[in-house]
Amino acid sequence: MSTRTILIAGNWKMNASQAMASGLIDGIKAGPPPSAVEMLVCPPFPYLGLAVASASGSTVHVGAQTCHTNVSGAHTGDVSADMLRDIGCSHVIVGHSERRTDHGETDEHVMAQASAAIDAGLVAIICVGETEAERDASSTLDVVASQVAGSTPSSATAVNTVIAYEPVWAIGTGQTPTTDEVQEVHAAIRSNIATKLGQEAADGMRILYGGSMKPSNAQELLALADVDGGLIGGASLKAEDFLGIARLAP
Ligand code: PEP
Repeated sequence: MSTRTILIAGNWKMNASQAMASGLIDGIKAGPPPSAVEMLVCPPFPYLGLAVASASGSTVHVGAQTCHTNVSGAHTGDVSADMLRDIGCSHVIVGHSERRTDHGETDEHVMAQASAAIDAGLVAIICVGETEAERDASSTLDVVASQVAGSTPSSATAVNTVIAYEPVWAIGTGQTPTTDEVQEVHAAIRSNIATKLGQEAADGMRILYGGSMKPSNAQELLALADVDGGLIGGASLKAEDFLGIARLAP
């Protein structure tokens, strides 16, 4: 059995209101969250301060959904990793496929974001995953290997970095790969990390699965040898479902 602590992370995307953010966090706290599992919520920027205050005194961590590559400066509309750390965030998601698509974020850019996050003392959650066309072309392992190599900075360690495998075609669609496919990709990612950062980092680094994870399929996904948690979109917007997934962790 792995010594990696399971991480259940909620990516709220562009959803929430003040009332919803505090209600959702109160619901998670009241659960209570299982003690052996690390819980993280990632609300949109405007609700981060409120989320940090709501989560204060609990084991629920708060993270952001992206950050700039620079510490400060003339970057209108952007938010730096240092600012996130300053307000009490502990994690930041980088390279989500929606950012890669909507904002043209490349592997090189994602690596710079992850590096800025690590320098600021945050845990970077680096997302990778193939599109449907890439899956159909049987290039999943190549695509993911190239994203891991291109998006993970050399400063990454098992402590400051988490990889999230999110097949693009599985996000928000209700579809998931088979458990054999998920395990195959996760094991391949672990070996990609070993190549880049060494075996120790690879053995300790958490690799989350993301893409239509919900209470009805979480148990079999979280039981896989190289799955160390989940990055959850839709099902993280209801405390009951989010906690339901966390409770299924082995
Ligand atoms: C996500 O976007 O990170 C995600 C996994 O979404 P969903 O759970 O809704 O598929």
